[in-house]
Amino acid sequence: MECSVKEARDENGQRMMMTHLAMGTVMTHQAFGSRAEESLMAVRGEIARLEGLFSMFIFESDISRINRSAGKKSEKISPETCTVLEEAVRFSRRFPGYFDVTLGPLVDLWRRAGESFIPPAEENIRKTIPLVNYRDIILNIREKTAALRQVGQAIDLGGVGKGFAGDSLRRLLQNFDVTSAYSNLGGHVVTLGTKPDGSPWRVGIQHPRYTGRLIGSVSVENKAVVTSGDYRRFTADAQGKRYHHILNPATGYPSESGLISVSVVSEQSLQADLLSTLLFVAGLKKGCNLLRRLPEMEAVFVDSEMNVFITPGLQGRFRGDKNIQIHLLHERKERRT
Ligand code: AMP
Ligand code: MG
Repeated sequence: MECSVKEARDENGQRMMMTHLAMGTVMTHQAFGSRAEESLMAVRGEIARLEGLFSMFIFESDISRINRSAGKKSEKISPETCTVLEEAVRFSRRFPGYFDVTLGPLVDLWRRAGESFIPPAEENIRKTIPLVNYRDIILNIREKTAALRQVGQAIDLGGVGKGFAGDSLRRLLQNFDVTSAYSNLGGHVVTLGTKPDGSPWRVGIQHPRYTGRLIGSVSVENKAVVTSGDYRRFTADAQGKRYHHILNPATGYPSESGLISVSVVSEQSLQADLLSTLLFVAGLKKGCNLLRRLPEMEAVFVDSEMNVFITPGLQGRFRGDKNIQIHLLHERKERRT
């Protein structure tokens, strides 16, 4: 796709919009300020740079090099890759069983199966599961090197890369004196400040079953709103069973936690991205327990019956579609571990 840059003025200054393809999705940005155009050019460049570090499909990326050297040697990596891996391992350690960036071999198995619409053989899944283990990442933060212990292991940053990009672009926009911006990185929204008129941004949350419809919207300032859903990338077999792209690392199969969509609202885009994938696999009950330890994070859960659950901090901020039943989750104790 051609990158298109549109310019439009509003009464508060200059508003710039940009749409481009990156990280396998369409991204749209709008920024306000006298240096908005420059800022969005820089944003597009930065996202392309990060894709060049994180993508498994770019031969010389940090991740491709680590994966090719699995079981053999360590690779020099960028500070950005180091941060993402560090954070991913930290979350996996803190909330074990749901999120694992070494899911690469399983993702690959399912990706190949998806093309032919035939799920992988159970035996292949069983053989692949032992390769998925974040504890096998050998990360040297001081030297900025990373390695995987076993041959055949592979890192996949599909569940976190855009999250990191979101935090970076927010910092970048601020360097260009932009104080108001809205970026949609393909179902992953990052906002800076408020709208130029001082009102909060309203971020729509996609209906998991009807394309083009929303279940509601959440009003936010300076926050990321990140959604993981079973509708983003999926195929169905002859019986109509849905196979989606979020896998349970323990079973090797697409997660069947009863949730079909989870949105996380947080100031930290990387953490919101990690957590949306993690909560999707954890399910509603375990997910709620786990959120008690993350008081700065809010979430919207949608189960397979289309019930919508919101954390208390979103009360008054989440406006749901009138046809949708909204349940308020219990008050959370503010407790850090
Ligand atoms: P997201 O859409 O952010 O939830 O991320 C989904 C992507 O993350 C998938 O396409 C996979 O590349 C990867 N992924 C899927 N399941 C997991 C998991 N349980 N832990 C870590 N990464 C995952
Ligand atoms: Mg994610």
